[in-house]
Amino acid sequence: MNDSYNPFEITQKQVEEAGLHLKLDEDIIEHLKWPQREYKFTLPVKMDNGKVKTFHAYRIQYNFARGPAKGGIRFSLDENLDTLRALAALMAWKTAVADIPLGGGKGGVCCNPREMSQRELEYLSRAYIRAVCDFIGIDKDIPSPDISTNPQTMAWMMDEYETIIRKHQTGVVTDKPQPLGGTEGRRDATARGGLIAVREACKVYKIDPKGNYVVQGFGSAGQRVALSHPIYFGGGKLIAASDSQGGIINEKGLDPRELLIHKLKTGSVIDFKEAQSIDREEVLEINADILYPSARENAINKNNANSIKAKIVCELANGPTTPEADEVLYSKNIHVLPDILANAGGVTVSLFEMVQDSYSYFWDEETVNRRLDRILTKAFHTVENTIRERKVHPRLAAMIVAVARLAEACRLRGWV
Ligand code: GLU
Repeated sequence: MNDSYNPFEITQKQVEEAGLHLKLDEDIIEHLKWPQREYKFTLPVKMDNGKVKTFHAYRIQYNFARGPAKGGIRFSLDENLDTLRALAALMAWKTAVADIPLGGGKGGVCCNPREMSQRELEYLSRAYIRAVCDFIGIDKDIPSPDISTNPQTMAWMMDEYETIIRKHQTGVVTDKPQPLGGTEGRRDATARGGLIAVREACKVYKIDPKGNYVVQGFGSAGQRVALSHPIYFGGGKLIAASDSQGGIINEKGLDPRELLIHKLKTGSVIDFKEAQSIDREEVLEINADILYPSARENAINKNNANSIKAKIVCELANGPTTPEADEVLYSKNIHVLPDILANAGGVTVSLFEMVQDSYSYFWDEETVNRRLDRILTKAFHTVENTIRERKVHPRLAAMIVAVARLAEACRLRGWV
């Protein structure tokens, strides 16, 4: 992480830049630079030691022109109003790039989930819903998991919401456990979306997807992509991985399944057998065909952009590359699959989950994956055509696609 960046200012600049390319009026650009609604609240939770702890929490609803707000809730110590505004904005651009009828949103609670018991996490999740229940709902704002939250968190949140409104409404959150209205394919969706983008990029840029790949951030998306990459492409070797504790490398290849078992057992990738340990930052700089940044914001920045050697950077994380780094990677002819395209698989399958919940009838995994493929393949080529037509770097191209769609929705509604 590089502290000198304000992530929200970055997303605002990106809107301005895309707006200028599209020759949009200043008033619509100004409108699109800001979230429409922001909620800040405190959550008192009785902890296991009997004391009440007050947690600071947020929910940002970025834009409603194309549909209800949608996005994750993270439990993390690093969040503040501006990080969550930026992440909510990314959700709005992501749903627009995928061309699905949702707006953007994000929420967060400042806490250290590693130090909390399951009971404390449950109480915190329920307290969060009690605070936001008037502002969320299937036609207002639909949360999902994000960093340090998961399907169990969603189950508690949905249960609390249904208890308050006194009716069934499973679609109020997505990425739920399947017995509670979750969909097939949601757990793999973010990684699968990234793989679809990599597949198309490899075709366009004539790169072999069966080469080496690196996963920075062995969390939920990183683990799924590490496992799925060789299965999806019928080959490919994971040569390095990292998490918040450190990095590991083995040029001969790491077994993703064994690594996952090790991570689940020990809580980290470090000390994995037959691997050398390296600095977690170094993992980004390894010479591989495909790099999957899957951790947090600003990992690739002006300090390390010049050292990136991958041919394709597939951003499974939100906001992993800073604007200066984008320019450097573009000048080095590294193909970046920007977050708002590359990780849009998650929210796309979240939409599928909402649709299935609305009529309580569920699709098989093949149907979910086929429909996801169609949406993301189309999104990839729309962005790719924009890169060529406007001669801009991939993130700007994706932003141009997204901003044009959102601006059009606002104009048709008569907002600006
Ligand atoms: N947290 C995921 C993201 O950042 C999923 C969002 C969703 O499904 O609502 O894209």
